[in-house]
Parts: sequence; C-alpha cells; structure tokens
Amino acid sequence: MNRKIGFGLALFVLCGVFATWQPVVEVSAKEPVVVVIDPGHGGAAEPGAKAFGGYVEKDLTLQTALAMKQTLEKFEGVTVYLTRSQDEVLSSEQRVAIADDSRADFLFSLHYNAIETHHLYGSEVWTSAFGEYYAAGQTFGRLQLAEMAGKGQLIRGTKVHMSEQGSDYYSLIRGARNERIPCVIIEHCFIDNAIDRQLIDSPQKVSALGISDALAVAKYFHLKSPSLGLDYSDYTYVEVEAPEEGIFFPDCTPPEKVQLQIVNADRQTGQVDIRLSAEDAESGILYYSYSLDGGRSWSALVPWSVPGKEMDFSVCVPADSWPLICCRAYNGYDGWTQSNAQAPWILSVEERSSP
Ligand SMILES: [Zn+2]
Repeated sequence: MNRKIGFGLALFVLCGVFATWQPVVEVSAKEPVVVVIDPGHGGAAEPGAKAFGGYVEKDLTLQTALAMKQTLEKFEGVTVYLTRSQDEVLSSEQRVAIADDSRADFLFSLHYNAIETHHLYGSEVWTSAFGEYYAAGQTFGRLQLAEMAGKGQLIRGTKVHMSEQGSDYYSLIRGARNERIPCVIIEHCFIDNAIDRQLIDSPQKVSALGISDALAVAKYFHLKSPSLGLDYSDYTYVEVEAPEEGIFFPDCTPPEKVQLQIVNADRQTGQVDIRLSAEDAESGILYYSYSLDGGRSWSALVPWSVPGKEMDFSVCVPADSWPLICCRAYNGYDGWTQSNAQAPWILSVEERSSP
C-alpha cells in the first residue's frame, strides 16, 4: 500500500579527486488501497440461498455490493473493483484471480444465509484460520459486525471453518490466502428467518447493508470522505493478533454446562420463572430454547441477553397441565447442550388417577 519513493539528486562535488552522489530529497507517496468486492453466487446455475417471498441470494449480494462500491468510492485513496457486476457464474478460482490481478489489499465476499430448519438468525463473518490472514479477517469482522449490531442485529461472531485436511474450508478464503490476500465472507443475515428478513424487506434496506459494509472498510483502512463528511483517519479499533501457533481452531464442542432451575411456579396462573445458566469458554452462548413437554417439541431460539450471565425468563403453561420443562443452550458454532428437566409442580395421586 505504501511505497516510499526516493529521489536522488546527483551532486558532483569536486573535492580533490572525489565525486559524491547524495540523495537530498525524499518524497512519500501513498498508493490507493485496492478493495475487491465479491457478490457471492451468480448465474442461473448458482443462485445461492432462496427463501419464501422471492429472496434470492445472488441478487441480494449484487445489490449489496453495488451499494458498497458506490459508498466506498466516495472515500479518498481507495480503488474498488467488483468480481461480477451482472448475473453470471464465476468459480471461486476466477473470483480470486480477479482479486489477484487487481492487486487487492482485501477481498470481501458478500453472502446471505439460510438453513433447512429456518431456526437461525443473526450476522456472522468467516475468516481464515491462519496467522496474519486470521488477524486481518477477525479485525475487520469485528468492525463489520459492530455495524450490524448498530442495526439491532444478533451477532453470531467472527468464525473460522476448517476442512478435515486442516486447511481453510471455504475455497475462496483458501485461494485468497494462497495469493496472499486477506479475505472474509460476510453472511449478513438469514433470508429464511422472519426476524432477519426485516433487514432486507425493501431494496433500500439491502443497499443499506452495503453502505454498512463500506463504512466498516473505511474504518479498517482509515479512509476519509469529504463529500460524506466522514474522516476515519484517526479511527481506533482493536487489532486482533495472529494466533501464536499459527492456526486458530473452530469450536467443535457443545456448551460445557447447561443447568435449569425453576425459581418460582404458580399453578393457578401457569407462570413458571426459570433461571438458566450455560457456559461455553470457546465461542460463548448465543441463544436458548425451551420445551414444556420434556424435549418432544421446542420453542423458537431466543437470544441470550448478556454473555456470561445467567438467563432469567418466564414461560406460561396451561394451568391444569403437567409440564416437564427443559432447555437447550446454543454456542457460537450452533452446537447445543440440553439441560436437566424439571417439573414445576407435581400432581397428587388423586389427580393422576382421576380421568
Ligand atoms: Zn452464499
């Protein structure tokens, strides 16, 4: 990014038999940051995720990318390229090649999530698991997720995914690292979940996500934009360090401990007050769900309010029923552990034997 150009001015000083050449001027020139934005998927063969309501990932990523590019180009000292600007199929190798040919300082791949069970929601950023590429991705990822949190979005974290062979799982991240380009995959939200769909239910909102991405990039590279009235030259943020052993491993284990305690139960009204504690040292606790029938059916996922703290919540059960309550706590990698089950009240022998 930075290149120091030294200019030499030849001075011949006649001093006896010596002629000396001395550099007398040094000029520092700053090359523009090169950002490559990759709208994920594309073409008839690679639509990406689809969801009820006409949401198609390849269209959302392109629209987000165009807004991101347009916003970033209002900043000084940055050159922006797209891997695709229309609906076309590109392999991850082609996407990396475009970034490499552009001499990219960073490759940002934009995506939208979905899952068969439709139960997840929130934003996440995937990075390389290796050294300085991990550090760059995780540092940027935190800036991007802070933008998403500002929109009220649940933050699923900055994560790594490794293949069984021990390399980065995502071919784009793996390929970019081979070309020495830091790369992240931004999963903005789950398009198949009603909570997250509120983020993308108008074209303006989809573009707004691209603007958020652009601001995160501007902060990361300390850019300024007189036309937008934004100056991040002195913006400070936490720089994540490269892992000591060179590799950061994903969290492959479910939460260590999940404990349910019934604090109060009112059989008349059916209100049951619950305290749930859960721990996951590696990736924290993101959500919980509860079951009133001993684990046969489950509630939707509820965000865990304060990381590291117990959850206090109440459920309402039919007053004359005989519930058996248990909970599940989910960590940052969607691994879950089920709690103990507890009945809020015990039916008497007469009640049990009555028809
Ligand atoms: Zn995708």
